[in-house]
Amino acid sequence: MRPTGKLHLGNLVGALQNWVKLQDEYESYHFVADWHMLTTGYENTLDLRQDTWEMVADWLACGLDPNKATFFIQSRLPEHAELHLLFSMVTPLAWLERVPTYKEQLENIRDHDINTYGFLGYPLLQAADILMYKANYVPVGEDQVPHVELTREVARRFNLAYGQIEPTPDAVRLRMTRDSSDQAAALAGIRQEFRSGSLDDRAGWLNDGLGKVSPIFPEPDALLTSAPRLPGTDGRKMSKSYGNAIFLTDEPNVVSQKLATMLTDPARKRRSDPGNPDVCPVFDLHKIFSVHETIDRVNRECRTAEIGCVECKRLSAGHLNAFLAPIQERRKPYERNPQEVWDILEAGTGKARAVAQATMREVRAAVKLT
Ligand code: SF4
Repeated sequence: MRPTGKLHLGNLVGALQNWVKLQDEYESYHFVADWHMLTTGYENTLDLRQDTWEMVADWLACGLDPNKATFFIQSRLPEHAELHLLFSMVTPLAWLERVPTYKEQLENIRDHDINTYGFLGYPLLQAADILMYKANYVPVGEDQVPHVELTREVARRFNLAYGQIEPTPDAVRLRMTRDSSDQAAALAGIRQEFRSGSLDDRAGWLNDGLGKVSPIFPEPDALLTSAPRLPGTDGRKMSKSYGNAIFLTDEPNVVSQKLATMLTDPARKRRSDPGNPDVCPVFDLHKIFSVHETIDRVNRECRTAEIGCVECKRLSAGHLNAFLAPIQERRKPYERNPQEVWDILEAGTGKARAVAQATMREVRAAVKLT
């Protein structure tokens, strides 16, 4: 997660809740993606340190547990940069240029310059972040699936370039028939050919069932997170940059004020007009944070104009504040002792470093950089 500071409800519903669930099912790694932050925001790093602290304090407050999951700071592990560099040697430029978010963001982001090498290469940095831990699964939303797919392709290509390729029994039999050679000579001949073959040749041998590669990296799968739609106060997707977010740390009166300004069903102009909760962002919040009785009541009484928007928002604020209270309570000890967050990150970074160093020893040996 990029260190963007205090987290909002969209971050919670879109990612964090899922991470908390997964930490009981998998050996999980989560990191502060501060280098990724630089790919789109290199001009202003003044708040990076504080933003990192605020974000990780929110992780802890939401129940991410350093005794179950490992969390660390990306930039403290130069191994990630080294693996990114090695991947950049084998990855065709066209693979990066065709990543859907690349073109889309180049066209859409106008307020700061992202026409940089770092921005083009960030999916490759992601591939390094994932493959460093030989991850089997990456919890992502639908929009990130192409990035996981690219990671799989990079792993495949790297394995092809530097993994050990051995002839299959079929290949040996074929060679013996063709050259009337004995088994040892056939094996030696094919190995020699494999060693000098191009990546395309090697891919062809694997496709034809003539060779088997011992992979350095597994090909990870996307673990799809289906997050419910979470609108911000203006009805658009909740985002810090839109200024429409409700933060996990917002005090009850701030939550109430933000909800009071929230857009509703635009067709409901007067109190007496019946509304349609299905098109109302406030009802989206109810569906996620309110109890069933309230959801049923709003769903019914909005359509008949029995409940007004002011009362409906008051109910929503009540449920939301009740939901946020324990999160804010869990955050307080870290606010009283900020060093604890850094200590947790330091310990997690140490754990991650041991894995990263082991991977890089293996990688350097495979590339013959020893
Ligand atoms: S009553 Fe509630 S759900 Fe209906 S339009 Fe107003 S705010 Fe939306």
